[in-house]
Amino acid sequence: MTDLDLIKQKIDLIDFIGQYLELKKAGANYKALCPFHSEKTPSFMVSAEKQIWRCFGCNIGGDAITFLMKYENLEFYDALKILAQKTGVALKTKSGESSLAQKPDGKIKLYKINELASRAFHQILLKHSSAKIARDYLKKRGLTDQTIQNFQLGFAPKNRAWLTKLLIQRGFTDSEIATAGAPQKFFNRIIFPITDILGNTVGFTGRALTNKMMPKYLNTQETAIFYKSKILYGYHEARQAIKEKKVAILVEGQMDVIMSHQAGVKNIIASSGTALTTEHLKILSRIAPNIILAFDADQAGKKASRQVLALSQNFDFNIKLIRYPKGVKDPGELSKNPENWRKILKNSRYFVEWLLETNLEKIKGDPTIAQKKEIFRQILPELKIIQNPIEKNHWIHFLSIKLQIPEETIALALEKLAAQPLRRAQSQIKTPSETTTKSASSIDLLTGIFLKIPRLAKKYPALYNKLIQGYNKEGLAQLEFLVEKNYEGFADDDLEKEAESLISRLKIKKQEKIKSDFANQIAAAENQGDRKLVKNLLKKLQKKL
Ligand SMILES: [Zn+2]
Repeated sequence: MTDLDLIKQKIDLIDFIGQYLELKKAGANYKALCPFHSEKTPSFMVSAEKQIWRCFGCNIGGDAITFLMKYENLEFYDALKILAQKTGVALKTKSGESSLAQKPDGKIKLYKINELASRAFHQILLKHSSAKIARDYLKKRGLTDQTIQNFQLGFAPKNRAWLTKLLIQRGFTDSEIATAGAPQKFFNRIIFPITDILGNTVGFTGRALTNKMMPKYLNTQETAIFYKSKILYGYHEARQAIKEKKVAILVEGQMDVIMSHQAGVKNIIASSGTALTTEHLKILSRIAPNIILAFDADQAGKKASRQVLALSQNFDFNIKLIRYPKGVKDPGELSKNPENWRKILKNSRYFVEWLLETNLEKIKGDPTIAQKKEIFRQILPELKIIQNPIEKNHWIHFLSIKLQIPEETIALALEKLAAQPLRRAQSQIKTPSETTTKSASSIDLLTGIFLKIPRLAKKYPALYNKLIQGYNKEGLAQLEFLVEKNYEGFADDDLEKEAESLISRLKIKKQEKIKSDFANQIAAAENQGDRKLVKNLLKKLQKKL
């Protein structure tokens, strides 16, 4: 028995998928809204009896491991490792060998190179005399030894030949080192390793030590294991806390994440060397319904907040912004006192509210008409982005009270604004699900019906054998499920008729394919002036039809 068989024996798929999706009983099966495409009525089904799942909208299905791989965006062995932990199955890997060694696709070396570089950078920061300046800097920022260890911070010294030498000594080639993102390009920088959701090091950010060094932050370029649009800094460390608190706090910088962790706020993450993307939001939407934006209290921070808000309209997040106390302008400063964080989070505001309050704060006494107009000018575009009508009406009502303007006036102003072209930020938004909806193929359906109705297999034995050759055991179980759902309520006779019609449709298709193949060959022969070949082909075609 393989590890996977053993694991699957120990997992009840209903319980397992129930941890991720809200399953509702539907006859002998369970259903849920599909996590892999956008939908309003559930087409994602789980069969308790067959222990398989299938989405009849995007026409994909599988078992526990395929679900986990797709849901968490994992490769096979990473998903296997997680399931093994959940079920207490000891994987039969050679002792001491990490599961990375099993990755079948040549990425192993890329992970190993980054891991090795990360450990070397960390050791240098801790011990090397040239790293004193970096150690002093981190101490001045208030980082403890424990924090430096938790985030495996490192230092890349001035001399950079050593890392290439070390990696080559360990058996890696120049080209492998380059493909892994060339970690030796960092020098004279404090190193922040970037990990994927499983905690594997996939790249680095290097922070300059002096103001003269440009750029201030240098990042590993994208590689086969490092996709900036999908990596959230600190996700591996924050995931559990985000799930428990149901809130993800989003900050701008890696240092912000680290400082906040140290202050005890652990449900916190940052994007790495890129603005937040739809992919990032997709990852977060699986673990938390609430996001709090703690971007810096400056123009850039405000702009970033706007962008996240525009992107998030395709998801069902509640998004709030924090309001910094006077004199504090980033999460790092906030973290000097853990109590600050708790107060601030409690006082977070929705964006419309936040804009209104930050504007009103600047005004002494009641706002003048000109000031009201200016506040309006800033808030209306944000109001327009909100697509949920309940939310929109709530804010119209809210503004009406706060600014003492009739709701109709606000609604009218919104309508006028709506007539203008959409802002760019909004038109760039992609839908959260790029999954295209496919319909089940006739071959799948036909094979499924053959499995359900044994007398068909007796009637067309050759066809039956040919059809089932294309599937493994799990594939065949999937097909039965597919047929049950696709032809719900069909009697065996109806199914048989459907099979006959599918067979004749497939025959017609096959004939058409033969004809068009011959037509192509004949045209080619005519082009070459090969009369004899044309004649032969025509003869052959007549025999076939
Ligand atoms: Zn689906």
